[in-house]
Amino acid sequence: MRDTPVRKARDGFHWDQVETLHYKDEGSAPFRDVTRQVLFADAAGGAEWRYFEVAPGGWSTLERHEHTHAVMVLRGHGRCLVGERVCEIAERDLVEVPPMTWHQFRAAPDAPLGFLCLVSRERDRPQLPDEETLARLRSLPAVAAFLEPQSRVKR
Ligand code: MN
Repeated sequence: MRDTPVRKARDGFHWDQVETLHYKDEGSAPFRDVTRQVLFADAAGGAEWRYFEVAPGGWSTLERHEHTHAVMVLRGHGRCLVGERVCEIAERDLVEVPPMTWHQFRAAPDAPLGFLCLVSRERDRPQLPDEETLARLRSLPAVAAFLEPQSRVKR
């Protein structure tokens, strides 16, 4: 049990007694410049509330899974891909990611993109797109433009 029910917010979207973590293990999946903070690990009987922050020009992993995401943008702006839709997102916007729907979050070049993400604590592992899936997504011009910066990265 913590000694206080309130963990104060600090500058730069940090909170007392909340550790800033790597988004994922390096090399486990493609992403760039993302941090993760777990705000509540067992809230509301099995929900987990995380804060992710994508640095300017960065992106989260393009993935899908059976579990859903409820997202609220807290900081900055950028774009997201959900299914075959590319949408502009900014502070306080809400994004729902349904089951088995390809999704990715990208910060604008000149701003971070920080967002709360609500998930079930018990959840399946994300799946990554195969070449066929990427080719199908890239056949949609808006999606191709959204994904383009990633494909230019040298590996
Ligand atoms: Mn996800």
